Amino acid sequence: MDIINKELIITKEDNPIYTIYIENNYNKLSSVIDKLQLEHGKALIVTDSNIGIHYAQEVKSIVNQSIPFVEILTLEPGEANKNIETIQKIYHTLISYQFDRKDILIALGGGVVGDMTGFAAATYLRGIRFIQLPTSLLAMVDSSIGGKTGVDYLSYKNMVGAFHQPSAVYINLQVLNTLPEREYYSGFGEIIKHGLIKDKSYYRWLKSNSSSILSRENESLTEMIYRSCSIKKQVVESDPHENGERALLNFGHTVGHSIEKQLNFSYLHGECVSLGIVAAAQLSYEHGNLSIDELEDIKETLKQFKLPVCLSNVSFSSKIIAQTTRNDKKMEAGQIKFILLHSIGAAYIDKTITEQEIESAVQLILI
Ligand code: ADP
Ligand code: ZN
Repeated sequence: MDIINKELIITKEDNPIYTIYIENNYNKLSSVIDKLQLEHGKALIVTDSNIGIHYAQEVKSIVNQSIPFVEILTLEPGEANKNIETIQKIYHTLISYQFDRKDILIALGGGVVGDMTGFAAATYLRGIRFIQLPTSLLAMVDSSIGGKTGVDYLSYKNMVGAFHQPSAVYINLQVLNTLPEREYYSGFGEIIKHGLIKDKSYYRWLKSNSSSILSRENESLTEMIYRSCSIKKQVVESDPHENGERALLNFGHTVGHSIEKQLNFSYLHGECVSLGIVAAAQLSYEHGNLSIDELEDIKETLKQFKLPVCLSNVSFSSKIIAQTTRNDKKMEAGQIKFILLHSIGAAYIDKTITEQEIESAVQLILI
């Protein structure tokens, strides 16, 4: 792929809904906002303190070129703050500045800020518009696209939420320069997943370009993010409300979510997805047609991108992990919908995997 088209249009029943822009700065943000025809409304930029310190003022001044009234709300960073109380803070701010339906929210941050801002936008006055400015690798390729918004409730991740599509997704690749290393690597859990479920040639491309990708070289990053967003686009367009095909994006997540919970969120999402991918690949070898060479290749690739493939000295058993998969939201009539691979690049939904089989596969990653 030589020429990268830096825009992707997400459609619904062949009608365009929003555009994903992949850029190297925020300069075009003002013209993107102009296209939304906001009639001189107001904008609230929602961010967290790690990100806001670097980019909030710059984004504010660019948004100000299109919208006269722009405010910034800075939240505490981290998944622990992704809750209803934080949503209330966003509502209070919107009410105090008298935001109405023609005004807009702008999410400047990773998945946590994006999910919460989207949820506030989905529910405030029964829905106002919002723009995603994803700043983590994970948010760029995954959570900012597809319209899933929400918060955690009690110990349940994303338990309360709504589907609400953004009006635009604007990715500025330069912001990845301040993303901490571990957070950067975590994004590869989803990126490698994209290749595994849908696109073997992308998976091979990732492997052969790993050194330029890991050193965050611009050209490789642009191509990678474009290709990952294209896969996510293809899947969410074919199934906007997660009734079928979109379940494939859950590859590695059934076991991954259980591990994430048992580790009390001390491991990052992409790290847990990596461990879940290893378990799902093992089950694909045992129950699908994945070859032993492909299974080994998948583990090598995850390691190449600095992701974990096993866990040592943990205080929980593989049995607990298998049992917790029962609580996964992706259950249907008590049956676990497990995503397996026929081969690299070809995923399918399996409804036959038992808790016992999950336990045995997880056993192999706990050393
Ligand atoms: P994720 O995007 O992985 O779902 P978060 O939204 O919690 O999760 O982001 C991960 C962490 O990285 C948070 O601490 C966040 O503040 C920080 N972060 C996100 N993007 C950037 C960035 N571009 N520069 C610096 N820190 C960032
Ligand atoms: Zn995920």
